[in-house]
Amino acid sequence: MKFALFLPLSFLLFAMSLLGQTPKELFEVWDKNRISTIQPSQVKHEQVKRYLEGLKQLGLKVEEVGRSFENREIYQVEFGTGAMKIFLWSQMHGNEPTATSALVDMLAFLQKNKDKDWVKRIEEKITIRAVPMLNPDGAEIFTRRNAQQIDINRDAVALETPEGRLLKKLRDEWQPEIGFNLHNQNIWTSVGDTKKQASISFLVVLGNEDGLSSRAHERNKRLCGLMIGALNEYIKGNIGRYDESYNPVAFGDNFSAWGTPTILIETGGLHGKDEMYLVRMNFIAYLTALNALADGTEKNGNEAVYENIPLNSSGRLFNVLVKNASIINLNKPRAENGEGATGIETPLKFSQPFTADIGINFERRRTGAIESTFIREIGDLSNYGGFEEFDAANYYVIEKDGELNLGSRNELHFYKKSRKIDWTDPAFPTKNKPDSVFANGKFSKSLK
Ligand SMILES: [Zn+2]
Repeated sequence: MKFALFLPLSFLLFAMSLLGQTPKELFEVWDKNRISTIQPSQVKHEQVKRYLEGLKQLGLKVEEVGRSFENREIYQVEFGTGAMKIFLWSQMHGNEPTATSALVDMLAFLQKNKDKDWVKRIEEKITIRAVPMLNPDGAEIFTRRNAQQIDINRDAVALETPEGRLLKKLRDEWQPEIGFNLHNQNIWTSVGDTKKQASISFLVVLGNEDGLSSRAHERNKRLCGLMIGALNEYIKGNIGRYDESYNPVAFGDNFSAWGTPTILIETGGLHGKDEMYLVRMNFIAYLTALNALADGTEKNGNEAVYENIPLNSSGRLFNVLVKNASIINLNKPRAENGEGATGIETPLKFSQPFTADIGINFERRRTGAIESTFIREIGDLSNYGGFEEFDAANYYVIEKDGELNLGSRNELHFYKKSRKIDWTDPAFPTKNKPDSVFANGKFSKSLK
């Protein structure tokens, strides 16, 4: 019996190795073939131009197809000669950069590996067009919107942005069969009711208010199932799904409605791994889908794999979760008639200590920027998770300016409970050095 099982399995493994596009192989070849060199969030328009120059030198067709509001060039890259038309675009939100690097790496890989059977098949069966960085103006200052302050992804109907008009034109003139709408979601997005980060999320966009599916949507679900299967080798449990809520002015919905059923892929975060790792995950996903379309194995995909992925949740994860803190707030005297009691009176008045967990998030920045933090939540956060968690049960916590407030930037001072400190002494901050200070995302000394 064992022998009978062994044979088909070994044959399957052999066949997979011949095809040469197992997730593991894609994982390896990314590093050997990539032309992205820096963290995606550091990539501005000039860097994209350098990447695209590299693609051109490899022999790919790269053409300027339009300009942004601030007159930056927007490019489209083409690979393949096949009848099936696949269109991918990235970074319509300027601060959502991961897929731009992944697209560039995918195109470089395809062009360099046409001698591989499966790549040749993609070249013959599919024509790929990709627009990396649709919103170069937003990318320049790492912000979501374009230079008119319009969210391009809410401009599919009004078409007041040059970037939105271009995107529609590229679709309408070419009529692709599948669209890939590539974004980033915030790093605190979690998978279902778990405390796990959603590192990659999928949505098969139906593009109608009634949630009606079609054969093309079922195919896209199978493709998502295959991409999820491949990514499960690396980030199982960190894959989420968005629910289908129709947005009449968004591009994904309209692409689907106009005849290009679209797959949304949102890259989140994965604590402990850098952005490049998620570029790699995107690379694996795209090539898995393209290969399955080219060799027809998309028919073997399973919609249920996609449908069984938990929906994303938000607000359950923090960068830093400080647990069981005894918070003391300084009760500042309130100014009356707008004048007068602006200073701190003697003696200082403090609240009784109360126990709470503190959820702290970092502001979204380019990699390497100094982290600025803000208080996201205060209270019983036992059902929440932090990428880093600290137990502050032995400490009093006082905000540097006296009061812990939601949303505020903050510097938290931690004092061991065993110390005898007269909080009412106006000179207490100078007389008593805190045992640890949390500022700019870091503790000065670890809590014990
Ligand atoms: Zn987005």
